[in-house]
Amino acid sequence: MPKPPTGDDKVVRMQFLLVLRQRGIGDTAVLRAMDEVPREHFVENAFVDAAYADQALPIACGQTISQPYVVAYMTEQLRLQPQHRVLEIGTGSGYQAAILSRLAREVISVERYRTLANAARIRLATLGYNNVEVLLGDGVAGVPDKAPFDRIMITAAAENVPEALVAQLAEGGLMILPLGPHNGSQHLVRITKRETGLEQEKLIGVRFVPLLPGQAREL
Ligand code: SAH
Repeated sequence: MPKPPTGDDKVVRMQFLLVLRQRGIGDTAVLRAMDEVPREHFVENAFVDAAYADQALPIACGQTISQPYVVAYMTEQLRLQPQHRVLEIGTGSGYQAAILSRLAREVISVERYRTLANAARIRLATLGYNNVEVLLGDGVAGVPDKAPFDRIMITAAAENVPEALVAQLAEGGLMILPLGPHNGSQHLVRITKRETGLEQEKLIGVRFVPLLPGQAREL
């Protein structure tokens, strides 16, 4: 496991949590997870100094690691319980998967770029997040073999709610995703699957990289 923060690091980490609280994150388990996961290990070397700033940062393959506030907000809105099995679409750096892994029993995360999937798998294993499995593939199709999932989080913007993922959500389950046109206005949506049908709630406005179909042909 990473070394605990010391000296200046500690101040940086306290400031990081303070910003999350000021922006309205109140769930102490979520704040604890944000405190525990060392974000500096998930960003590119060139951006280590900005690891705890409340901003999205570039990662390989033209993708981004989401802004800490959005990671914390989506996690909080997912209402995780310790026994939950979670599916994440869009592993990217693996940071969101690491946060989810502190709050749920098991996390399956799917990424369409081989480079990102491999790097995230190694990073998560090295840091000791043993309840996360990273899979290479098209997240739009989900992971039918491992369904149903109690919770699903999509971390790339979808123009429509992916039907295969709705089908893989357990009854009573929640799914959160950014919805909207790829270069336009997007907002987070929370879908609750009930016996009687789907309930959809519109949450905050966001900006995410696009959810693209198929495994990436590039590495
Ligand atoms: N959750 C990530 C941020 C992801 S950025 C983190 O914590 O770092 C969105 C990611 O979704 C990108 O890595 C992108 O390649 C991936 N993605 C986009 N469409 C996808 C799809 N159909 N299946 C799997 N991953 C996809």
